[in-house]
Amino acid sequence: MKAIQMVDLRGQYEKLKPDIDAAIRSVLESTTFIKGPDVKLFEEELSKYMGVKHVVSCANGTEALYLAMMVLGLKPGDEVITTNFTFIATVEVVARLGLRPVIVEPDPGSFNISVEEIKKAITKKTKAIVPVHLFGQCADMESIMELAEKYNLYVIEDAAQATGADYIFRDGTTKKAGTIGHLGTTSFFPSKNLGCYGDGGALYTNNDTYEKKLRSIANHGMKVRYHYDDIGVNSRLDTIQAAILRVKLKHLSEFNAARRAVADKYDKAFAGCPSICVPERVTYSSHIFHQYTIRVKNSKRDDLKKFLESKSIPAMIYYPGPLHLQEAYGYLGYKENDFPVTAALCKEVLSLPMHPDMEQDQLDYIILNVLEFFEK
Ligand SMILES: *Cc1c(COP(=O)(O)O)cnc(C)c1O
Repeated sequence: MKAIQMVDLRGQYEKLKPDIDAAIRSVLESTTFIKGPDVKLFEEELSKYMGVKHVVSCANGTEALYLAMMVLGLKPGDEVITTNFTFIATVEVVARLGLRPVIVEPDPGSFNISVEEIKKAITKKTKAIVPVHLFGQCADMESIMELAEKYNLYVIEDAAQATGADYIFRDGTTKKAGTIGHLGTTSFFPSKNLGCYGDGGALYTNNDTYEKKLRSIANHGMKVRYHYDDIGVNSRLDTIQAAILRVKLKHLSEFNAARRAVADKYDKAFAGCPSICVPERVTYSSHIFHQYTIRVKNSKRDDLKKFLESKSIPAMIYYPGPLHLQEAYGYLGYKENDFPVTAALCKEVLSLPMHPDMEQDQLDYIILNVLEFFEK
């Protein structure tokens, strides 16, 4: 059996090697390292796949969030509601722009931001909601968009973990995660479902004005060469990364399906184990399993993690600490017991190895050991 990894980047590279190597070589030979033709072609191909009018690529997923908030013209002191259970980048950009992060509890089943909690957090200063489609499954976008309309708020979807997931509306129509709000953002960090071989990110929008402004801000605020209309930044996707992403995008649906097949087998194997809650699958979203995250009952999570590691099975805790208890965010004034749902999740969650190149013997071995731990 091959060594088990959380994400098997080498296994995937070996399968795609001829195409990836050729793509990189062609950029090397053209020497168009910045704004080469692959960047525009990738944006066009991704916008087609996503069913969205514009894809604007940028340096990484954190910058995509940053650019989204800049383009909406949010001002210091404006409140931005987001979830307490996410990667730090979501909250960091809000704070970095001098906006006020208002963090709310997730729903314990789906791990995604609770619509009821958003309602309670809306004030006169609220300007935007940032739902995160955590672990590959969409937040309840239809309800969030209804709230946003009612209170005149912007919605920025952090879709870094959900590239390719479908949101399913009540009438049965679907849209891709990240294309429903005013702006959507994603990351091409190597371990994401659509990952490059370095840093990369992008924004999605159907709004022509936002698109133009985003392209300007991401390029020093320049519209016409050496004329600056906005105060901008330098945030670009390298041509080499775009060329790699063009190869990988062709396989994204197949990779996401392979992840789902792994999840189905985990679900089935753990269904009869009372100490494990398998990840909930909501009716309004497909799940592309960026992570397969179980909740382990009876304070057994850390022991299970240690046991698996002793069997050479990696497992990760996403996320070990609630944001409101991080030192950097102490100034927000939250108290230790303000978020019991998040606190409980941080003690129970465990993400098991999940990637499209998982082999049957690896999966069997992981399942066998997880079950053996609880039978001891
Ligand atoms: C990965 C991630 C980001 C940040 O993306 P980078 O490309 O690493 O900057 C933001 N939000 C979420 C939810 C993520 O998982």
